[in-house]
Amino acid sequence: MLSSLYIHVPFCIAKCDYCDFYSIPVKAGDERIGRCIEKILCSTEAELERFRVESIPSIYIGGGTPSMLGAQRMTELLLGLSGILSRRSIPFHPEFTVEANPESADRDFLSCCRDRGVTRLSLGLQSFCESTRRQLGRAGESAALSRSLALASEFFPGNFNADLMAGLPCQDEKELLSGIGKLLEYAPSHVSLYSLTVEEETPLARRLSESTLSLPPAEEADRIWIAGRDALEEAGYEQYEVSNFALPGKRSFHNIRYWRMENWLGTGPAASGTIIDEEAGTGVRYTVPADLDVWLLGRGAEAAGELLDRFTLMKESILMGFRFIEGPDPFLFRCRFGLDIEEAIPGTLEKWRRRGFVKKNASAMTGEGLLFLDSFVIDAFNELESILPAGCSGSVPKIPGGSHGRIF
Ligand code: SF4
Repeated sequence: MLSSLYIHVPFCIAKCDYCDFYSIPVKAGDERIGRCIEKILCSTEAELERFRVESIPSIYIGGGTPSMLGAQRMTELLLGLSGILSRRSIPFHPEFTVEANPESADRDFLSCCRDRGVTRLSLGLQSFCESTRRQLGRAGESAALSRSLALASEFFPGNFNADLMAGLPCQDEKELLSGIGKLLEYAPSHVSLYSLTVEEETPLARRLSESTLSLPPAEEADRIWIAGRDALEEAGYEQYEVSNFALPGKRSFHNIRYWRMENWLGTGPAASGTIIDEEAGTGVRYTVPADLDVWLLGRGAEAAGELLDRFTLMKESILMGFRFIEGPDPFLFRCRFGLDIEEAIPGTLEKWRRRGFVKKNASAMTGEGLLFLDSFVIDAFNELESILPAGCSGSVPKIPGGSHGRIF
């Protein structure tokens, strides 16, 4: 079987106020870091065996903050991984991305990544503005951003991504455009521009409800994001997904596999994996418990599995596939479900095509259409449910993170 691999490193230097990813703040010498690496390697080998994986087209180490591991721990992880793949005769030349944060992406870490098979770096910048970073509880000073960008362009020239966010406290159009200007001086191959999403139960949500912090109003936040999108497109970065922009030939292959709902395995606390049975049009999703200590002890740490029945998988294929500028893969959709996308949601496509938000010659959103993806998906689900036999509506996947929301 062919499957991508996602590894979740559940550590950060400090917790950002807006973040609801599973990660815990630790100091560099915390003994759980070493145990976590050992367990990640064991789990990876077990998952590869369980699903009989013979080929891995992409690997993504995210988090959390993988660069927090430092060069020595990262070397252990990368050597361990290459050992597992070579024992299993799995070719080791995938697109291989590692996430890093500016304050910990130092020369030793980046050179260890580059020298041990990593092909692509993803830097979490979010904002160049010192006061915005403070308001978000984001570790690292803005000066570290320029240093890390210079290192990224030295170690991964033409092959690194940078994340920026729009709709942040104290942010206006000018501030975002100035950040994009600074970023582009380092020629990233890929930029992710996310809208800030206020997640429940985060310090950010609490501070907003207590009125000790304010964000730009929603319309202003949208204008800021659109100004950023336009600046990136003018600079030659193609928007190929709701929040992702790439120079020609530099799209993230790993993320495209998520949007197309193609197999991936996940290891590390809170990671999930999805394996599709293409012929049956069904899938299995498993999620590793989001608790490092429980997972390390192995108590209740077996990933919980969930069956994606045909209708749930069809909904997810629509939900995820229309995020991508080329839409769901028409060939995969037909193989999985025995019908074309145009046959599954004809009314929705026709309605949105008339408005100019779906392409004339493809089942895919236009660039402007991506701004309204949430409403499109609601229409598509309503139409699907109206044509399904009674009792077969499947479960309703959560729309991840709004129109420009971060999903991975
Ligand atoms: S946003 Fe990133 S760096 Fe901040 S706490 Fe979440 S995972 Fe860690």
